[in-house]
Amino acid sequence: MTYTLNSYNTIDDSDLIMDREEIQALKQKIKTLEQKALVNEKNLLELEAIYKNINQDRTIQVHKVPNITQNNYQGQCQFFKELTPKNTDFQISELFEKLPFDDIDGGVWKQGFEITYDQNQWSQEKKLNVIIVPHSHNDPGWILTFEEYFQQRTKNILDTIVNTLIEKSTRKFIWAETSYLSLWWTQASEDMKSKMKKLIVETKQLEIVTGGWVMNDEANSYYYAMIEQMIEGHEWLRNKIDASIRPEYGWAIDPFGYTPTMPYLLEKMGFKSMLIQRVHYHVKKYLAQNQKLEFLWKQDWSKENSIFCHVMPFYSYDIPHTCGPDPKICCQFDFARASGQYSCPWGVQPQVINARNVDERSRLLLDQYRKKSQLYGDKKSHNVLLVVLGDDFRYQSMNEAKMQFENYEKLMDYMNSKAEFNVNIKWGTLKDYFELVKENDLKENIQVPSFSGDFFTYADRQDHYWSGYFTSRAFYKRLDRVVEGYLRTAEIFYSLNNLNGKDNGEKMNNLYKELLGARRNLGLFQHHDGITGTSKSHVVLDYSNK
Ligand SMILES: [Zn+2]
Repeated sequence: MTYTLNSYNTIDDSDLIMDREEIQALKQKIKTLEQKALVNEKNLLELEAIYKNINQDRTIQVHKVPNITQNNYQGQCQFFKELTPKNTDFQISELFEKLPFDDIDGGVWKQGFEITYDQNQWSQEKKLNVIIVPHSHNDPGWILTFEEYFQQRTKNILDTIVNTLIEKSTRKFIWAETSYLSLWWTQASEDMKSKMKKLIVETKQLEIVTGGWVMNDEANSYYYAMIEQMIEGHEWLRNKIDASIRPEYGWAIDPFGYTPTMPYLLEKMGFKSMLIQRVHYHVKKYLAQNQKLEFLWKQDWSKENSIFCHVMPFYSYDIPHTCGPDPKICCQFDFARASGQYSCPWGVQPQVINARNVDERSRLLLDQYRKKSQLYGDKKSHNVLLVVLGDDFRYQSMNEAKMQFENYEKLMDYMNSKAEFNVNIKWGTLKDYFELVKENDLKENIQVPSFSGDFFTYADRQDHYWSGYFTSRAFYKRLDRVVEGYLRTAEIFYSLNNLNGKDNGEKMNNLYKELLGARRNLGLFQHHDGITGTSKSHVVLDYSNK
């Protein structure tokens, strides 16, 4: 007699030399199997539908390659023009056609121009709102390896941030690299962990920006790896800190150029706004002259998606280049340089703020803030200014943090108390800034321009184009793609195994841990000094050994 899955109901128990209990148990097992088979069938149908969709999406659109002759070429790339739909107010292809790239000396703001302002544009009713955002840029590998940096610097930095913010509820900070948070978490005391959790979840003094495993490169990284490292970072935040955490603001101050894939992904992931910094100095100058440093970034291939993007105007994200156009003055307000640890290369060192110099120092700094504010939105109506306050591996000790926070707090108290200054200055996060801009844009009816295109190839000065990293250390760039292929395959097999109900408990748990480790190592390599090849040799070897 043959038994099929559907025939067990017709079995005559008397034909079998089995006791009733055994038969009952068998019936139950068959029933369970049937139920699982039904679930599997449903899952397979869903998978089939997904595959169908993917295949449809992958239908390659063949563009007719135009015959570029002297007649139709006329100095422009016709093919590129055909490919780019005109769905935005301005595009990078147009800028490249019209910018002279002449590198004229702009005075104190070498790569820009002289900025003037009418101080009557601010009043008691309409103050200049300055949001100061403290940050510390921690590369997960560069001159030192990820672990070396952590031991020598980042561990202290994260301890310092927690202890400094706990001291005063008005203080804020932003953090980007989840890989470092996860390493800190494995060795921090329960007390420190609960303090950090409180600062992120309850008081919101510490804001996680982007929240990827790293601040990924945007030229060499494949989109699959970009998504993967974002998932890894966000999953870690949700599992270890709190399920409510959902980063909404992008922070990419150091990747060497920017792809439109990133705003596309961020927008799809539910991000509200983003910030970028390493844009060609001449493009920055154009954006600043035309008040286009903030725009809605769209893609050539999608009319629907856009995300609000802020471009930092000056040379760098360090303090000399973030308070205003004159680095010689801004450097005097990097109080970490007053302790002798660093110094100002422009020759004038910072002065610790006291009752005697606070008025003169405040006026000097406010002048820089006012000048910088002229570059954003409509000069007369944009009264919100972002000033980031940090540098690579900053806030390493309580003493350094004290110098920075306490001197600024003296300046803030003084400026806010002087009615004639018409300024409202405070600590903030990216969320604080972007929400205020949005509110202001709505109130003043400011139309934000839309933009499409990328920000490659980056040049930070003269003809220093950052294009070598597109191809350097090619072996490791190839290794990255091979690892991605294996990882994706392993993930698919793991998921199919789960779908088939073959959950072998401990074995699957161990496999999951290995998958997690592989994702994190691949994620780490997407760092803008990883896959780019811009790290020291022993650091590159460390990535590849992982
Ligand atoms: Zn960096």
